[in-house]
Amino acid sequence: MKIRYFDHAATTPVREEVIKEMIPYFGVQYGNASVMYSLGRNARKAMNNARDKVANAINCDMNEIYFTSCGSESDNLAIKGFAYANRNKGNHIITSKIEHHAVLDSCKSLEKEGFKVTYLNVEENGVVDLQELVNSITPETILISIMFANNEIGTIEPIERIGEIAKKHNIVFHTDAVQAVGNLRIDVKALNIDMLSLSGHKFYAPKGVGALYVKEGIDFKKLQDGGEQENNKRAGTENVAEIVGLGKAIELIYNEFDSYNKKLTELRDYYISKVKENITGIKVNGDMSNRLPGNANISFKGITGSELLLKLDEAHICTSAGSACSTSNPGPSHVLTAIGLDKEYLNGTLRVSFGRDNTKEDVDYLVDTIKKIVT
Ligand SMILES: *Cc1c(COP(=O)(O)O)cnc(C)c1O
Repeated sequence: MKIRYFDHAATTPVREEVIKEMIPYFGVQYGNASVMYSLGRNARKAMNNARDKVANAINCDMNEIYFTSCGSESDNLAIKGFAYANRNKGNHIITSKIEHHAVLDSCKSLEKEGFKVTYLNVEENGVVDLQELVNSITPETILISIMFANNEIGTIEPIERIGEIAKKHNIVFHTDAVQAVGNLRIDVKALNIDMLSLSGHKFYAPKGVGALYVKEGIDFKKLQDGGEQENNKRAGTENVAEIVGLGKAIELIYNEFDSYNKKLTELRDYYISKVKENITGIKVNGDMSNRLPGNANISFKGITGSELLLKLDEAHICTSAGSACSTSNPGPSHVLTAIGLDKEYLNGTLRVSFGRDNTKEDVDYLVDTIKKIVT
């Protein structure tokens, strides 16, 4: 039976074009990118070509891109690496209550080491409270880290405003843009973003490769010691093949940005309206306009998200109850708690996230199946 996949916020399938681009670097082009002879130079060239593609996608210089092993590593490097290197300037960090755990737990680690962290509240739609942000700034504040778009409820944060506030107060601004890259147009210069995390497997590159943008002039401490790879900021022989894949994937997704965005938006809106039409006792979470194109997060009364998820799995439908990163962590997610979702809805949440291969017929099948399960 055909699998219908609606969990692109958890991960995406690697595109054929991306696989094709990577294959030589698993095989004949096996050189180490740090060595001098031509086999190594070829690898280095391919890697820097990918670096250039990432830089083009977000409008920065290629020397401002550092490849990592994943989005989580990028978040750790940005937050902890920056905090360790800039401790002498202050010990206060501002983030939000709805960040990914890679950000939240990096901040918690720093708290154990004497840093102070403010976790901003969000409105009912998941938008951070900007007034609270401004009020939280102290002379000790060195870093603001607010995600570009939320992985559970899809809310897009007011990044431009946050960038302005950070700039005005001379505070460095990091954003976890793992859900945003590929789904939204991003210009780090126009948005005053100083550091940005991204991850390949959220836009049809393989798992296990990510990148961190750090604006020239901003210092951060290397967290993984060893060789001098990545401008001496991240030790370890580079994952050349996957870096090549990430470069290809980011180029492809932005080349087809308008049609991809339109497709996901249409599928999302079609799904939400069909659920509203067919099922009672539901609540759509997140913001209705400032929302990731492919994200629909809906709570259903009288059923738990995991029950729903398992029944859908029996029908070969892949969705998510909350986020992929919290499957071993039962109970309502920190994001749904932070938006103050009513108790009767709190446990019955289903996140559906659309991708390139989904069709309207898939959505019809999905809604029909949900309807059968909940009624
Ligand atoms: C997926 C995700 C991450 C983690 O990225 P990995 O590459 O899986 O480590 C971080 N932040 C957000 C918002 C995500 O959606």
